[in-house]
Amino acid sequence: MEELRRQLCDYGRRAAELGLVIGTSGNLSARDGDFVAVTPSGVALDRLRPEDCPIVRLDGTIVEGELPPSSETPMHLAVYAATGTTAVVHTHSVFGAVVATTMTELPPIHYNSLLLGGSVRVAEYATYGTPELAAKVQEALTGKQAALMANHGGVTIGAGLEKAFEATRLLEWLCEVYVRALGVGTPTVLTEEQLADVIVRAFTPPPA
Ligand SMILES: [Zn+2]
Repeated sequence: MEELRRQLCDYGRRAAELGLVIGTSGNLSARDGDFVAVTPSGVALDRLRPEDCPIVRLDGTIVEGELPPSSETPMHLAVYAATGTTAVVHTHSVFGAVVATTMTELPPIHYNSLLLGGSVRVAEYATYGTPELAAKVQEALTGKQAALMANHGGVTIGAGLEKAFEATRLLEWLCEVYVRALGVGTPTVLTEEQLADVIVRAFTPPPA
């Protein structure tokens, strides 16, 4: 768990440096078996120390740590219970929040959307930190690596913090492209057939 706590600090700092979070917003967690290391409540992600990150069981019981776990810990735990993933990243990134405030889904406008499972659903609004929000996010993530949270931000999952963090960067990039494209004209959405062709190509070995 010490390594996971250290990684929470590394990726927390990167999230702040990249402007994906401001102040004490945003939270990250990583799981090892029945235990989850999570960022604490009320500490800016660029000022975290490993020992600041509480460790909780999957049922939410606090095992270690002097600071309270992030207020969104119920959401992280609901996602672990539903997906079996090992890392969750939640930010208030600007373009993610723009899409989450104006739309019900981010359509697949670029083939890299497939890395997140295609279109990205926007979970209905619920108050932060509540079991209601946790349930809505869990549902929106079904079959996906990412979801947006109405009038709030985004959440991504992955096998380890590096993958979950890269998914957050990709989600923000896709949201920015979509929002900027809307300012220029009507974005074309990729068809099911076009997306299927990408999957075929990705899994076809190159000619020898
Ligand atoms: Zn939040």
